[in-house]
Amino acid sequence: MTQTTAQTAVNSAVPHNLTGVDYSRPPKRKTGGLVIDVHTHTRDAALTREYLRVADEYGIGRIWTMAPLEDVDALKAAFPGRFEFIAIPKWQNLGPGDDFIAEWMRRLDEFYKRGSRLIKFHMAPGTQKRTGMDLDSPAIQRVMQHAYELGYHFMSHVGDPRAWFGEDRKYKPSEGQRSFDQQFPMLERMLEKYPDRIHMGAHMGGSLEDMDSLQKRLDRYPHYIVDSSATKWIVRAIAEQDTARVREFFIRNQDRILFGSDLVVGEKYDHDHYASRYWVHQKLWETDFNGLSPIEDPDAAEGKPRLAGLNLPVEVLEKMYHTNARHWLYGRVLGRTID
Ligand SMILES: [Zn+2]
Repeated sequence: MTQTTAQTAVNSAVPHNLTGVDYSRPPKRKTGGLVIDVHTHTRDAALTREYLRVADEYGIGRIWTMAPLEDVDALKAAFPGRFEFIAIPKWQNLGPGDDFIAEWMRRLDEFYKRGSRLIKFHMAPGTQKRTGMDLDSPAIQRVMQHAYELGYHFMSHVGDPRAWFGEDRKYKPSEGQRSFDQQFPMLERMLEKYPDRIHMGAHMGGSLEDMDSLQKRLDRYPHYIVDSSATKWIVRAIAEQDTARVREFFIRNQDRILFGSDLVVGEKYDHDHYASRYWVHQKLWETDFNGLSPIEDPDAAEGKPRLAGLNLPVEVLEKMYHTNARHWLYGRVLGRTID
């Protein structure tokens, strides 16, 4: 057995490389300029450095991150101008009760001093269960109002993959979990309440699997935008629907969709793990690739994750990759221009 064959055999056994992709050779981009990634989770500078090596290889420039408050100053010092910081609570403290809320409020002020103007509300069903709160809860409303008064704009994670809802799934109605459809009224109430702030819905607003409802939301709320992040979920949502129809959706809403990866920096991840996310996103948006996705997905039909590329027009890609982030996030949220 040659070295190359052995290498391929090893690679195809890892969850981020089922098909033996050489991630050290990024596909050539269809667009010019660097891509802005609006949704990541970086951490301390040393771990983040390895991730940035991949970001550099894949043409990713500026990055928005949900790094813990404790890492913000060090990241700023190590990588000047590379990151913008989205305000988050201390996830380890996540739970019911006033302590979590009080601590979150304090963090909001600290993030604000460091230049943050976007606050993330993580309201997936699992988070609702752990905290006993949702976007309508008085305590969360206090955080929201405090953020609003400081001048923050909003970001939210609402919903979760449709495959996770049901009696034999993660979110069981018999355990008091709301259905997929029931996740979104609280979001709409928040959108109604703060029409003068940008609101970015993570992971295609949690509802790429229900494009009709997402379209209505985008039409009704001109301040609502979405990011394209969460690789497995988005890849699956596209593969399970009619490609032409999804492509039409992206073209129609080309001014409202921002590129995001949802990459998480951590000790257990290596170069190829990080690269696999950018590789798949690039194939998804830029090509008409139709075949097995290299990233393992336990929720995929018959355990075979399919990647169905949308082959978006270059002018749509340009908007998704940087123009929209410049307009909505740097312009409207931060009130500044970038070169
Ligand atoms: Zn995320």
